[in-house]
Parts: sequence; structure tokens; C-alpha cells
Amino acid sequence: MTLPIRPIPQPGILDIAPYLPGKSGAPGSAAIKLSANESPLGASPKALAAMMEAAAHLEIYPEGSSRLLREALGEVHGIDPASIVCGNGSDDLLHLLAQIYLGEGDEAVMNRFGFSVYPIITKATGARIVMVDERDYQADIDAILAAVSARTKVVWLANPNNPTGTYLSDADVRRLHAGLRPDILLVIDSAYAEYVTAADYNVGLDLVREASNVVMVRTFSKMGLAAVRIGWMVGPDHVVDAIHRIRGPFNVNLPAQMAGAAAVQDVEFTQRLKEHNRYWRDWLTEELSGNHLRVVPSQANFIMVLFEGADAAARAFTILLEAGYIVREIGPSYGIDNGLRISIGSEEAMRGVAAVLKSMDGTR
Ligand SMILES: *Cc1c(COP(=O)(O)O)cnc(C)c1O
Repeated sequence: MTLPIRPIPQPGILDIAPYLPGKSGAPGSAAIKLSANESPLGASPKALAAMMEAAAHLEIYPEGSSRLLREALGEVHGIDPASIVCGNGSDDLLHLLAQIYLGEGDEAVMNRFGFSVYPIITKATGARIVMVDERDYQADIDAILAAVSARTKVVWLANPNNPTGTYLSDADVRRLHAGLRPDILLVIDSAYAEYVTAADYNVGLDLVREASNVVMVRTFSKMGLAAVRIGWMVGPDHVVDAIHRIRGPFNVNLPAQMAGAAAVQDVEFTQRLKEHNRYWRDWLTEELSGNHLRVVPSQANFIMVLFEGADAAARAFTILLEAGYIVREIGPSYGIDNGLRISIGSEEAMRGVAAVLKSMDGTR
């Protein structure tokens, strides 16, 4: 059989399984979406107002370096704006980091239940992804260090992690970093930083300042602006310089830049989200624990619920869906067949989900 002559993707691209997003409801359905860790309180009203204002002149190219957004981030977080790079969602920045630091023959190390974007962006460069088993869903630092080889160029670490919700303390992340060669880039993906309440957590900024091989990546998606697509990262000058060389020249659109700048400054809204999340995360964890269920303690804006088997998890998913709640199946993308990931939503949604799960006869 002769194949038609046509453009051929680079080796490995067609072996990549596409990212599976959280299920959405049918347009116009009343289903409540708890599958993508979105804000239950909407967006900051100040961000919305800034975005509308920015929409007045869509014919003009945005300022390409997201200067106003970087300055707002710098002011609120105490960071030099020159060491910040913004992106079209943090996925944009993660892709750029992979493209810059990985290639054919290289390896990147990650946790087996780490964020499912890391294998995609690693393999897209021709590099190999090395998966490290957790211990009871908690990252195992010794195992990560043992998995590092002469070919390792990047370590991907979500802290807290999605979909498990577990986190590493400042001391643990430092121990991990101390065990890495200085030519290995440690990427600390702090996508859920706004929601962490543990006192021994560090968002990663201190290590970025002290070392020359650490970057911290952040997103606005989990704090009310997922649709707008804004990510940002902080790193040493040499990394920032490399990213500026290859990023899209206008990679963050103007309405996003303006919404982001207003959202960062709306500290009160972020605090309200955090308080709501803390209360209902604790409440749902306590309500569901026992009842043949195990909830893995979470520092994020979702919880991972473990059932006694894959069948029970599938049944719970269906029953929740029938009751109008869309949660996230984590068998397909993560291989946690007996688990479901449930975003922290409104009070009504949390009470509803708890009632449904507790009424399942013997959730086993
Ligand atoms: C949601 C998420 C992101 C990113 O998202 P963007 O919407 O692309 O900013 C990054 N890392 C982790 C671990 C996430 O859960």
C-alpha cells in the first residue's frame, strides 16, 4: 500500500495522548461543574471592570511584555517585575520551558500522579518522561532524586499537586532542590498557591531568589479568570532571557493583562475565595471521610475522594451526574481508577454532593 506524500509530524508527536479536560455540561444545562477547579465566586468585579475598559480599543496591539500586569504582580508579591514573564495561561509558560530546556535524548522527572500536562509537553520535545511513584499520594523526595540520571534536564513539581491535593513543605522542597545538580531546572508549579493554608508551605519564591536553577509558575485560572488565560512565572535572569527570545511577541492579550492587573490588586476578593475554600474544603473532607470513603487531605481548591474500587468510583460519578454534579474522573488521565476529584464549589453544591455520596448504599 502506498501512503500519500504529506507533511509528517516530528517523531513521538502522534504517540502523545491529548489532554483530557474536565467534563463540561451541555450548553444551557443546569449541571454544576466541579470538574475543573474553577472559582465558585466568579471573577473579581474589579477585574471584570478593567477588562471591559480594555475592550474599548481592540484594534491596537497589546504592550508585548505585559508591563502593567508584571508591575502589579511585582508590587503585590514583592518581586522585581523584570524577573516576571507572563503567558497565555501557565500552560503557555510550561510549554516554553520544555521547549527551551528539553530535547531528543533528555529526560524530565515527575511524580506519577503529577499534573497530566507535563508528559505532553515533555514528549513534544522528543525528551523522555520519567515517572516516580508517590508514597500514598505524597511525593517521595528520595525516589525523585533516585530517578535523576545524567540525562535529566528538568524536574516538574506541582505544589500543591493536581489531582491529589497533597503538598510538600518548604523544608521538603529545599531538600529536593539540594539533591539536584545545578544544571537541572526545578519547575515549581504553584497553581494552587492562593488556596494553601498550611503554615510550613512556601510558594517557591525564596528558592527562586537563592538559586539559579529554580522557577516558580503561577496562574490566574484557579482564582476566577480561567476563561481569560493568564499565567506568570518568576525565574533567574538567564531563564527569563531565554523565554523572552521565543515566546509569542504578544502572548497575553490586552483584556487579559488589564483583568489580571486588577485581580492581583483585589486582595480582598482573593482572600474571600481562600476563606470560602478553606471552610468548604474542611467541611466536605469531614462529611465524606468514613462512609467507605477516604479523602486525601488537600491544600488546593478540590479534594480527591478514594472509593473502595473502580466500580464504586464509576457508580458515584454517574449518580452525581444524574443529580446534576459534574466531577472529574481521574482514571483516564491519571490512572487513579478508584478516585474522583471534586472541586470546592458553592455551599449549595457542597451540601448537595455530600448528600448524594452519603446516600449511596454502602459506597463500596
Ligand atoms: C490548572 C493548572 C495549571 C494551569 O493552568 P492554566 O489555566 O493554563 O493557567 C497549571 N498547573 C497545574 C498543576 C494546574 O492544576
